Amino acid sequence: MEKVVLVGINSQFIHTNLAIRYLKNYVEKYSSLKIELYESNINNQIQSIITDLFRLNGNHYIFSTYIWNKEYVFSIIKELKKIMPHITVTLGGPEVSYNAKESLIENKSIDFVLVGEGEKVLLNFLTNENKNQKGVAFLKSGEFAYLGDEFPIENLDTIPFPYNDEELKENIKILYYESSRGCPFSCSYCLSSIDKGVRYLSLERVKSDLKRFLDSGVELVKFVDRTYNLRKDRYLGIWEYLLENYKEGVTFHFEINANIFDEEIIAFLKKVPDGYFQFEVGVQSINKETMDSINRRNLLERLRNNIKAISKNIHLHVDLIAGLPYDTYDTFKDSFDYVYDLDAEMIQLGFLKILSGTKIASEIEKYDYKYIEFPPYEVLSNCFIKYEELVKLKNVEKMLDYYYNSEKFKYSVKFIIENYYNRPFDFFEDISNYYDKQNLLGLGHKVVTIFNNLVKFFEEKNFQGKNIFIEYLKLDYLLLGKPGVYPEWFISNKDKEKYNNIIIEKDFISSREGYKKTEFEKFNYDVLNNKNGEIEIFFNYTKKKTILEPF
Ligand code: SF4
Repeated sequence: MEKVVLVGINSQFIHTNLAIRYLKNYVEKYSSLKIELYESNINNQIQSIITDLFRLNGNHYIFSTYIWNKEYVFSIIKELKKIMPHITVTLGGPEVSYNAKESLIENKSIDFVLVGEGEKVLLNFLTNENKNQKGVAFLKSGEFAYLGDEFPIENLDTIPFPYNDEELKENIKILYYESSRGCPFSCSYCLSSIDKGVRYLSLERVKSDLKRFLDSGVELVKFVDRTYNLRKDRYLGIWEYLLENYKEGVTFHFEINANIFDEEIIAFLKKVPDGYFQFEVGVQSINKETMDSINRRNLLERLRNNIKAISKNIHLHVDLIAGLPYDTYDTFKDSFDYVYDLDAEMIQLGFLKILSGTKIASEIEKYDYKYIEFPPYEVLSNCFIKYEELVKLKNVEKMLDYYYNSEKFKYSVKFIIENYYNRPFDFFEDISNYYDKQNLLGLGHKVVTIFNNLVKFFEEKNFQGKNIFIEYLKLDYLLLGKPGVYPEWFISNKDKEKYNNIIIEKDFISSREGYKKTEFEKFNYDVLNNKNGEIEIFFNYTKKKTILEPF
């Protein structure tokens, strides 16, 4: 039997490729074929991936192609064909699906492109001698041959669960899960807006799949449903099942539209244990003209209230996109401040990608888009925002990662913004200018250096109240864990005798263990209650989250 290898090149080691697992399990369920999976990531050297694929000695190599791996896959297949000219190379996935003809012309190493939803197409492709099947594109004597799209699978329950017991046991990677396919919305920049229909796995099937995750040691399951909360009876049913079967140590991630939550949902979400759910909320922009232009509606007041109501126990990632139509550098600042106020764990500042097939790709001339013409197809400028302004936002994004998304500067940065800036954006812009001026932007920095840079920035700005700022910074620093290094600005005031007595009182196996897993510090400003006065805090690092105990 000829050997088929399905290849997934992920963007990071911790990711798992859901598509190749669906494809393998589906084909193996409905045929006698056996498929081998090969997974790697773009941080590995191309040459070592080629060697691995060569050693697998397959006859058919099928690559799952995405925006983050297209360049990689295109290079790999060229080289692979040189050393294995007898093989067939087939590509599927969104990066080739919407432009099959162009892909076949661009890279002559591609024999076939699978268009659209892969399971049925791949099954027909592999089980038929005649490759001229629906959903299969190829070049015949230089001419593009394509019979048209295959119908999507009506009943998603016919697709097997993607993971095997071994993978569930491994527990080192993020596992992805899909309870529905498709999106009813029409965001002009998004490929998912092209196929309108939404199909769902049955509630019973989802529950039995979730039980497998809950029974294993998996820590993070990300639902890839394009908008998870579409049909209330169904999505609430899934959440209720998860709550009834709560398991500590696992997190479920959902991409949601928080505009459409009602009181019942808010009341339900308030009951979810801290850290059990994680939401990604795409705000993208709050500029009205922008929202109209991209076919996205945020009900700003309602969205804010909904998010604030659940932000205590649900971890939130909020997305913004720079480079959208009608969004200038100044209007973008408003969107930034709006999402900053939501108090999310993470603000993801993304940059518009011009993806072929989307509505925005048809507006290139209208809005004078300049963009990178290879993956990730990011916008460079348009008639609303200049290249240098987008570069400034890139720098802001870096500072956002350092001083917000890292969650390492919760107290000190809050103190700076509240005391010295009118709006949060200005702080991030200001510190990115400082990094730029000091030539620090292109470098990687250790955590302690990022702390030190904030002190230097503070000094350069000549802000008043450095003594209080340093106390907040010390608190942030000690929240990270038992310090290995004490930077110059960190002058400890701790009462060593008192610390010793606390260790003795606490139930540690030995004093050594106690010192290793805790810290004690005296602050000259009451950093927990934001007022003048001293406070002593015992830091306990024995749990995942540092526990603070004021004395
Ligand atoms: S951006 Fe999200 S909501 Fe909009 S079309 Fe794409 S998947 Fe749907």
